[in-house]
Amino acid sequence: MTASATLLEIRGAAKSFGGVQALDGVDLHLGTGEVLGVIGPNGSGKTTLFNLLTGVVRASGGTARLAGANLLDLKPWEISALGVARTFQNIRLALGQSVLQNVLVGAYRQNRTSWWQVLLAPHTVAVRETQAVEKAMEALRFVAPALAAAPDRIVGELPYADRRRIELARAVVGNPRILLIDEPAAGMNPHETAEIADDILRIAARGMSILVIEHKMKFIATVAPRIAVLNFGRKIAEGSYEQIRTDPHVLASYLGRKGDHLAASGDR
Ligand code: ADP
Ligand code: MG
Repeated sequence: MTASATLLEIRGAAKSFGGVQALDGVDLHLGTGEVLGVIGPNGSGKTTLFNLLTGVVRASGGTARLAGANLLDLKPWEISALGVARTFQNIRLALGQSVLQNVLVGAYRQNRTSWWQVLLAPHTVAVRETQAVEKAMEALRFVAPALAAAPDRIVGELPYADRRRIELARAVVGNPRILLIDEPAAGMNPHETAEIADDILRIAARGMSILVIEHKMKFIATVAPRIAVLNFGRKIAEGSYEQIRTDPHVLASYLGRKGDHLAASGDR
């Protein structure tokens, strides 16, 4: 990978929940247009890192610099306004609503309209509405072309992999600077996992900077040229897939753990 300018610089990110040190002084950096993988056994602090970066959990220490701001000091909506978007380990969608309605949430998030604007400038609001639908459809066409052809389908009737794509489409509406993706291949069969990897590579090819958490080693090796490994809230290794899979600290941390496999063929 060619060196790119650092977009996000995380230093000493820390979080304790009572006696549990979920994150213990993690340093990470993400370059512009880079895909950085984050792996680690269950409970190693991966999701907590995303929760700190999106302001839903307060950090106990550290900084995360983006565009001159420290994300760890900001509120979720301020972070979202800076162009940080995420998807969740457990997909969060309104299952009774349509594909388009779900993706629209991403457009409205950036396009806040207040009640007084509706009263004073209804035309402007109507234009925004149209723009929001256009943005949402554009994201859908890009991330999930097949779904863009049927935007009125009810999400609850769609297969799991499609739901994951809808969540991805919602996150990329309006081209965020940074996309945080938490275990996109969780619960997917090998075929769906390969498809989601393709989707993420397509999003990355647009130049979006991505932090992606995943358990499945083959998946992370496919999408992320650089990978950081967490264990008990600490970063224990960082490098290419080939580098980390032979790293003694990584091997030791995975040894004897049920359900975690380091072999590239071990994706289940
Ligand atoms: P991972 O995503 O790597 O599986 P998490 O970040 O979800 O791990 O969790 C790291 C540790 O922090 C775990 O021990 C977990 O139980 C704990 N933890 C995470 N979130 C909370 C919370 N909101 N309250 C209490 N403990 C939490
Ligand atoms: Mg997690």
